[in-house]
Amino acid sequence: MRSWEKNIRKVTPYTPGEQPQRDGIIKLNTNENPYPPSQKFMQKLKEMQGGSLRLYPDPAAKTLVDALAAYHGLLPEQVFVGVGSDDVLAMSFLTFFQSSKPVLFPDITYSFYDVWAELFQIPYERPPLAEDFTIVPGDYFRDNGGVIFPNPNAPTGIAMELEAVREILEHNQDVVVIVDEAYVDFGADSALPLIKEYENLLLVRTFSKSRSLAGLRIGYAIGSPALIRYLNDVKFSFNSYTMNQPSIYLGAAAMEDEEYFQGTLRKIVDTREWAKKELLALGFTFHDSKANFIFARHETCAAEELYDALRKADIYVRHFQQERIRDYLRITVGTREEMEVLIRFLKKYLRP
Ligand code: PMP
Repeated sequence: MRSWEKNIRKVTPYTPGEQPQRDGIIKLNTNENPYPPSQKFMQKLKEMQGGSLRLYPDPAAKTLVDALAAYHGLLPEQVFVGVGSDDVLAMSFLTFFQSSKPVLFPDITYSFYDVWAELFQIPYERPPLAEDFTIVPGDYFRDNGGVIFPNPNAPTGIAMELEAVREILEHNQDVVVIVDEAYVDFGADSALPLIKEYENLLLVRTFSKSRSLAGLRIGYAIGSPALIRYLNDVKFSFNSYTMNQPSIYLGAAAMEDEEYFQGTLRKIVDTREWAKKELLALGFTFHDSKANFIFARHETCAAEELYDALRKADIYVRHFQQERIRDYLRITVGTREEMEVLIRFLKKYLRP
């Protein structure tokens, strides 16, 4: 190591899923929505005026915050917005996890959590999921510096009942509890009703999955005005203008077409349930996913082999090298047509 390298912050970064830069790929590797944003939204995009881009955006992103507050029936003081939920989560780690006691999150979960913990030098422990990959609420009933988990969990897709979330909150009144609801719209119960009861509960959501806008980079947090104030203080100490002007305007526009939103959700959930039956018939096993992906293993064929074979056929899925889940593939639910191509390929590959 050269002498000037000694005092540099060294981190092992998170590895995002691949974004291939060519057409013709069935892309089931990063949990994007297979459907485009609504026509109404596209119209707003076309009508957008660029003139005001010479100005800085509104640092409070009020148009977007107000739209989200109105949508959820909350006060604007209960909403915080960021550049994708990754930005919101990073800010939340920085703001809320300041204790010398360990923050708790499951051993198998969104693999960015330990990266942020390492980056911000936050102590953490990872209680293992049960044998059936469910989160064990009792593991979070001990002294800690904060709690975070996704509901449904990723990459398992398993949802936790609202009562279990409440139990975790009941046992964690003196720390901040973050529920990452990136995939909640696909069939899990949101902890939104608990917001008025627990001042220390923060929900984090994203426009990247259910709202078909991964490319726009919008995420948000919902919580008590006190929590949101702390988050804003840190955000304004870091970067006043995280949200760009088109995102503020278009994000608000994206909340307007509820019918289209519910329609795409329904299609994805129907396709997911259809794909589960097909995968089961092909010898796959999986837990009951309530997200827009299925986390599956095959009874005889190794995940890595399948991953490579699928990739050669231009079907991209996700495989993690982490212990306990090496035998699994995470398959994003695409359109029905895309899933039919996947199933046809698997039928041929697994039963030559
Ligand atoms: N939380 C979870 C559980 C996720 O899987 C993802 C997607 N990688 C995110 C948060 C971040 O998504 P985004 O930054 O696109 O909102």
